Amino acid sequence: MAVCLNPGVPPEFPGEALESKDGELGDYAPAPKQCHKCLKLKPPRAHHCSVCKTCVMKMDHHCPWINNCVGINNYRYFCLFMFFLAMGCLYYTVLGSRLFFQALVPARKRTIKLKFEDIQCVTLSWLVSICIFCAICLLGGFHLYLVLTNQTTIEFHTNMAGRQIARKRGEIHRNPYDLGMSRNFQQVFGPNTFFGFRWLLPYVARRPTCNGLEYPMVSDFRA
Ligand SMILES: [Zn+2]
Ligand SMILES: [Zn+2]
Repeated sequence: MAVCLNPGVPPEFPGEALESKDGELGDYAPAPKQCHKCLKLKPPRAHHCSVCKTCVMKMDHHCPWINNCVGINNYRYFCLFMFFLAMGCLYYTVLGSRLFFQALVPARKRTIKLKFEDIQCVTLSWLVSICIFCAICLLGGFHLYLVLTNQTTIEFHTNMAGRQIARKRGEIHRNPYDLGMSRNFQQVFGPNTFFGFRWLLPYVARRPTCNGLEYPMVSDFRA
C-alpha cells in the first residue's frame, strides 16, 4: 500500500472551499496558494514533488526505497511498513544470533555443523538484518516524533527555522497543527485508540477522516 497507493494528489477545488463556515479564515489558516511549478491551487500542507512532478497533500518526502511520495494517503502505511520491517529484522536478529556466533568461532569449537555456504548466508543475512533494524529504528523514532507532534518532515524543517527566528525576537513559535499527542496520532492512524492496537492492522482499523484540503488547528479548539 505504501508503494502502490496514490500519495494524495490534490483534486481541483475552488479556493473558497478552504474558508471556514462563517466565511473567514482562522487566525492561522493559510490561504490556498498556487503552485508555481504545476500552476494548480494547492491546499495547506501540500508541497510539489519534483520527482513525481505533481503537488502532494501533506507531503512528507519522496521515498526512493518505496519509489513513491509519502503523503496523506500512504503515510500510515509507510509508518506501519517501517514498524513491521523493524519487527521482522528484530525477529531474525534474535533467532539467528546463535547461528551467527557459531559461524564466527573456529570449526572445531562449533556445536552446530556449518558448511562454508551456510556460514556465508548466515553472516551476510544477519549483518544485513541488524543494520536495517538499526537504521529503521532511527528513522522510525523520528517519524514517531513527527506523528505525535503533527508535523511532516518538510514542516519539521520549516518549524525549526520558525522557532529560531521567534527565539531571536523573544517570541515562542508554535506548530499550529499540534493538537496534543492523542489527536495528532488519530490524524495519521484514524480514530482508533492507541491501546486498542487496531491501528496496526490497516484493513481492520477505522480510516483517517481528514480530506487533505483542510486540517484542524489549535485555533479551532480555542474557539
Ligand atoms: Zn505543484
Ligand atoms: Zn514524489
